[in-house]
Amino acid sequence: MKIEKRQYSLSEIQEKIANGNFVKNIHGGYLLFEILKQLNIAYDEFKPVDTLKNVKAMFSHNERKILVNKEITDEEKYFAIGHEIGHAVLHGDQKGFVDYTRDVQIEMLRDDYPKIAHETEANIFSYELIMPTYLFIEKYKEFDRDIKKIAEYFSLEEYRILKRLSYLMDRNSISSNEQ
Ligand SMILES: [Zn+2]
Repeated sequence: MKIEKRQYSLSEIQEKIANGNFVKNIHGGYLLFEILKQLNIAYDEFKPVDTLKNVKAMFSHNERKILVNKEITDEEKYFAIGHEIGHAVLHGDQKGFVDYTRDVQIEMLRDDYPKIAHETEANIFSYELIMPTYLFIEKYKEFDRDIKKIAEYFSLEEYRILKRLSYLMDRNSISSNEQ
């Protein structure tokens, strides 16, 4: 059993995305369904029953297929798709399924999946696709730190903006007194 440490830094994840030549949307984020096509990944939704109730989405490496819980919100689906694309791009050496849950990260069909590092990387990847760092900082300044306006710009919930902001502040990408 091998538990790996995190493999990718933020700049390496950004580089992976830049090198993917993915299609951007009008907001400057990325068109996730176009990326699925580019990467030849199928998309489907599943009805959550029993043990799958808390699973938002999963990615089958073997089938190159993303399965998304049909009962989560559209916004949650979007982030879950970004997360699974992250697994596909960053963790292509995995086998079987990886998944994404509401509260805890669990892994199906494998014991030795280096889950925490990979889940963090997939989350960073997803946020980078949907609210790229450079664009987020640009809008943060343009809208004078107004969370509501930034949320409207990206068509996302305000808590997502706050999460993004705290992540970037923790990394000193944005300082608390930035204008
Ligand atoms: Zn995951």
